[in-house]
Amino acid sequence: MSVRIRSDLDELPAYVAGRTVPGSIKLASNEVSGGPLPSVVDAITNAAHEVHRYPDMAATELVATLSERLEVPTERIAVGCGSVALCQQIVQATCGPGDEVVFPWRSFEAYPILTRVAGAEEVRVPLTGEHALDLEGMLAAITPATRVVFVCTPNNPTGTSLRGEELEDFLRRVPSEVVVVLDEAYREFVTDPEAPDGVELTRQWDNVVSMRTFSKAYGLAGLRVGYAVGNPEITTALRKVYIPFSVSAVAQRAAVASLGATAELERRCAEVAAERSRVRDALLELGYEVPPTQANFVWLPLGERSGAFDEHCAAAKVVVRAFGGSGVRITIGKREENDAMLSAAASFEG
Ligand code: PMP
Repeated sequence: MSVRIRSDLDELPAYVAGRTVPGSIKLASNEVSGGPLPSVVDAITNAAHEVHRYPDMAATELVATLSERLEVPTERIAVGCGSVALCQQIVQATCGPGDEVVFPWRSFEAYPILTRVAGAEEVRVPLTGEHALDLEGMLAAITPATRVVFVCTPNNPTGTSLRGEELEDFLRRVPSEVVVVLDEAYREFVTDPEAPDGVELTRQWDNVVSMRTFSKAYGLAGLRVGYAVGNPEITTALRKVYIPFSVSAVAQRAAVASLGATAELERRCAEVAAERSRVRDALLELGYEVPPTQANFVWLPLGERSGAFDEHCAAAKVVVRAFGGSGVRITIGKREENDAMLSAAASFEG
């Protein structure tokens, strides 16, 4: 007799991560190529002395530092084991079987998985022809069973960002009992002055929660730490469904140190933004369609040619990320890494 696993999980695929291939350049997981910010490595090393103790569940120092930085009271902040865990926690805290979660598609691969793990129903709303979120379509998809709407801006994997004005118009029309998750994993790379600031929006809207992470711009993907900002009803619920001790002391110390390294962070983000425009211009010049991007990656909507492009790059020792039959996402790396990718893109004849 086999063990009893929930039968609704039979068809559920596990999350697939970008590949790491020794000897190849990895532009597949939206990581920064430069490593953690230099001043943060010392904090990580020092924190090694504390690992025989369980970490501080309240992440007191990190929450206090975020509170000061964002000018948000501590009770409006919750810390999680990466922002993906916080996304899962919000669904767990709000949904049961039969409840609905609305999200754009294509978007972050975890949304359908964590919805189904909670036993809830996924409601996917296709992107517009410009590879952007269709906010009207998302509003139309909301029903009395909707508990959560994910709004990913900039959107992974297309890089497109909403304008603040259109997001505010959307929020005015979402029923106030539906939680709107503003997934801002790439917020630090945004240069468009018209882009929304999710933390600001949480001051105005009690049903809005902003999720951010130290994985991307801060370069701490391997340490797993993110945070949510929103009204205390939401952050209290997030804490209740938190897996105890899942944010390590090393991660907490590294995050605090990262928040102190503002100048380094700004320099890094400016470099990414400059490379992002250079890479996009070069790809456009080569004849590719590339939607405008505010994140640390570009999206090539290559449709059925996506797999061939992915293989062509792999043969040139550049690992990118193909999303079957839809497109290819390419992370912005260091200049020489981007040049290797551009040279592969130039010789692609798919
Ligand atoms: N949201 C989006 C849109 C992402 O792309 C990612 C990472 N791929 C995450 C959340 C999760 O990031 P992390 O768990 O590392 O904070």
